[in-house]
Amino acid sequence: MSDCLFCKIIAGDIPSDKVYEDDQVLVFKDINPKAEVHLLMIPKAHVASLDELTAEHDAVIAHMMRTLPKLAKEQGLADGFRTIINTGKGGGQVVFHLHAHLLGGNNLPGFE
Ligand code: AMP
Ligand code: ZN
Repeated sequence: MSDCLFCKIIAGDIPSDKVYEDDQVLVFKDINPKAEVHLLMIPKAHVASLDELTAEHDAVIAHMMRTLPKLAKEQGLADGFRTIINTGKGGGQVVFHLHAHLLGGNNLPGFE
């Protein structure tokens, strides 16, 4: 996956503003934040999108879903937060390494 932007971030070849890391996921600030808090959570093992998931990914996906609310609370988002996963060109996906957007705080955008 040598031409994958987020794999390069995981490898440290491209800098990121890291917020959290464990053996399975990396979380960093979105470079173009759409809200006061805008983080991206990515699995360390490359997978392009939700479209590519198999049963092998079940554990990391569960880990992502369970880690997102913990991160939100650490970011001070006591009232709640928004998660978005864009899938495919039609879903607005630009970077084809699966990522969950975590958004919250002031200026949280709507769906309009
Ligand atoms: P998506 O449209 O769901 O594929 O979102 C890709 C996101 O990655 C966008 O919100 C971008 O602002 C963000 N992004 C692109 N390059 C970087 C980077 N080098 N560091 C952090 N975020 C990035
Ligand atoms: Zn990748």
